Amino acid sequence: MEFSEQPALNAGTIKQMEAARDITGLLGVLDPAVAVIYRRNASKALAAIAPADAVPGLVGRLALEPDRGVRQNLIKALGRLGDDRALEGLVNALKDRDLLVCQEAALALSRFNSPASYEALLAALQRKDSRESWQVRRFAAQAIGKLGDRRAVPALIVSLRDENDLVPPAAAEALGELGDRQAIAALKTARHNTPHRRGAECATCQAIDAALKRLEAKS
Ligand SMILES: [Zn+2]
Repeated sequence: MEFSEQPALNAGTIKQMEAARDITGLLGVLDPAVAVIYRRNASKALAAIAPADAVPGLVGRLALEPDRGVRQNLIKALGRLGDDRALEGLVNALKDRDLLVCQEAALALSRFNSPASYEALLAALQRKDSRESWQVRRFAAQAIGKLGDRRAVPALIVSLRDENDLVPPAAAEALGELGDRQAIAALKTARHNTPHRRGAECATCQAIDAALKRLEAKS
């Protein structure tokens, strides 16, 4: 059945599909031939329901979807599900041309306790392929802190000296979150030796101080 042949589609029908948990119907709305406003509504409904049996369908749609907002919603749904079958699609989404999609993918991957997730986020933390890559490095640092894998500590310590001054605060926060006291010395060095922004407003120093406070409170 071609979905685009159904003339009755509107916001109300999508609401009904959501209420009825009509996953097949909602996935059908995600046909690229359907108007983007409906695809957004349907993907939002799918993110709210997060239906476990829809993982392959969601992954398939994510790969084909041209709209950023829809891709974000699909990633949200997959992140909530935490099903390993979504990993490859999410790792690809971490390389999306749209930075907001990358951010959503990093957040979703932080919920997967798996080697593929860790490796993808670690690679993103070191990404330098464009002028905007620092944003991906920043998202990756935040996600790695949430992921909780302490093998990331050395890479995060390197990120304390990132050339973009919005990355080090995220790296410091992640180090505080990971809770590995071996990062204390490196944080102190970064606090003293890096040419941070002057004055009390230095976000890096504030984040380092907060991280040190967390780590030093651990015995
Ligand atoms: Zn500073």
